[in-house]
Amino acid sequence: MKVFSGVSVVPGIVKGKAFLYLEDLEVPHYTIPQEQSVEEMKRFAAAVKETAEDLRSLQENTENKEQAAIFTAHLLMAEDQDFHYKVKAWLESKYENIEWIVFEVARELSRKLMESSSSYLRERALDIADVSRRIIKNLLGLKRFSLADLQEDVILAARNLLPSEVLAMNRNRVKALLMDGGSRTNHTAILLRSFGIPSVVGLSPAIREISSGSRIILDGGTGKVILDPDDETEKRYEAQIEGPEGSYEITGKPRFPAETNFPAETSDGHRVSLKANIGIPDEVETLDRYGAEGIGLFRSEFLFLQNGRGSEEEQYAAYSRVIQAMQGKPVTIRTVDLGGAGVLPMQTEEENPLLGWRGIRFSLDLPDMFKTQLRAILRASIHGKVQIMFPMISGIEELEQALALLEEARSECRKKDQAFAGNIETGTMIEIPSAVMIADILAKKSGFFSIGTNDLIQYVLAVDRGNEKVSRLAQNTHPAMLRLIKQTIDAAHIRGIPAAMCGEMAGDPAAAALLLGLGLDEFSMTAVSIPQIRHIIRGINFKSCKTLAESALASSSHKQVQTLLRDWYGEHFPGLILASDMVLEKELGKK
Ligand code: PEP
Ligand code: MG
Repeated sequence: MKVFSGVSVVPGIVKGKAFLYLEDLEVPHYTIPQEQSVEEMKRFAAAVKETAEDLRSLQENTENKEQAAIFTAHLLMAEDQDFHYKVKAWLESKYENIEWIVFEVARELSRKLMESSSSYLRERALDIADVSRRIIKNLLGLKRFSLADLQEDVILAARNLLPSEVLAMNRNRVKALLMDGGSRTNHTAILLRSFGIPSVVGLSPAIREISSGSRIILDGGTGKVILDPDDETEKRYEAQIEGPEGSYEITGKPRFPAETNFPAETSDGHRVSLKANIGIPDEVETLDRYGAEGIGLFRSEFLFLQNGRGSEEEQYAAYSRVIQAMQGKPVTIRTVDLGGAGVLPMQTEEENPLLGWRGIRFSLDLPDMFKTQLRAILRASIHGKVQIMFPMISGIEELEQALALLEEARSECRKKDQAFAGNIETGTMIEIPSAVMIADILAKKSGFFSIGTNDLIQYVLAVDRGNEKVSRLAQNTHPAMLRLIKQTIDAAHIRGIPAAMCGEMAGDPAAAALLLGLGLDEFSMTAVSIPQIRHIIRGINFKSCKTLAESALASSSHKQVQTLLRDWYGEHFPGLILASDMVLEKELGKK
């Protein structure tokens, strides 16, 4: 028996067999003997042929004309003679393995296109990345197994799954998930929470000791993974496991009364609003159950990961479905925040992707893609109440450019007689320290703010949100974070606009009283967290939250703030247990 400790992402105890999935992301690099070059070229030709067949079948099986046109373009690129010539020339001068050469040639082509002043050519860089990835996968024989084809119930063990892989996997069969990499707030973890799959991440180095078929008990609540449990341990856990299949789901049902008919109002009448974060349109069906008052963050980039390039019609259909399902409740669509997390192949090539080409920078560099999204949102806005929010704003120019492109998208819709709502509010995500420092300036051009603590923490404390080695430093109640949050909220209120939060901190019960006291108007979180946050807010007094916030702001360390919160909750919610990372453990219902 061996016990590994990691970071808890989704609670739930699951016992079962592991399925080891090693991702493809590393492109091997080695030199080959000169005489092998003919063989390498043959492998390349075979992989191109296979890729072309794949693309033809995708093209035939899609009814969507725009999507089919993309596959046609990809087909032309895969068979492009100039591309083949470059690969051959590289091989004959350097004698390296062909996967590496395809990767390098494609990277070089993408880079050149990205430097072009034409946005059309810049967007073609993405196509090249797509096509080369397909060829490399075929060369490595990685197409053979897809997580979508899982047929048995498994505990999935992986190094570091990408959000796109979580979206693609057969979620009915993945009963739990463990990963060597990852953290609580990267996009993979956020999706796992949305799907309610018990998960532990940041286990490094567990994977090298696990093989497919290993017996595992995963405890998502405590972040423990037990490999080959002994009889006594197995019995102890079995006593906690409900249900015949040996797994139980905490996340499917609210642990706290949903109290959907009651407002999120403190005992002395201070009211805030509680909204949901969603990543894919399907999630909208569950929101009523938790009493979400709207959607505070629709992470639209997941549409691109699910459907490839996200044509205007596909996006329009997805947004319309969500907006209609919300029946007039506000839906805040964040324009794509692609990049940073390695979601598109070419972006993983940056030295520092989290400081690189992501969020609004990506959208402003690809105005056609950005306006396609904006038009889709505008057209869908007639079905309900829509707000648009821009991610990763670092200065006023970016916000102004985004708003100008929104204006262009509006004119384009008008030209085509496409209707859109007249009252669409536009807001700014505050997730880069510079945005906090100039929040007063940004507020003049924003209809609302939404604080993205997941990124704000990583940028202000210099803690990569996906790196398990430093995740203990990602402290949302670090005094620096509290001051930044306060400064943002104050700047919003001076200008008379609402201050929301959509980072994971908004769903942390231990932070709720503090955020209320700091003046936050809207909390947006994974829907399952809403009942407990509502329960806490309804059980406390705004005045005492303000006093708590004042003391927290006067504290000199994260530890001091934690002690303060523990004492405060102990007094106001006797029986409440807070874990050291400020996650509420249990017993809250016994208030
Ligand atoms: C954030 O940064 O807090 C946020 C909500 O955006 P994301 O997690 O998608 O980066
Ligand atoms: Mg963010």
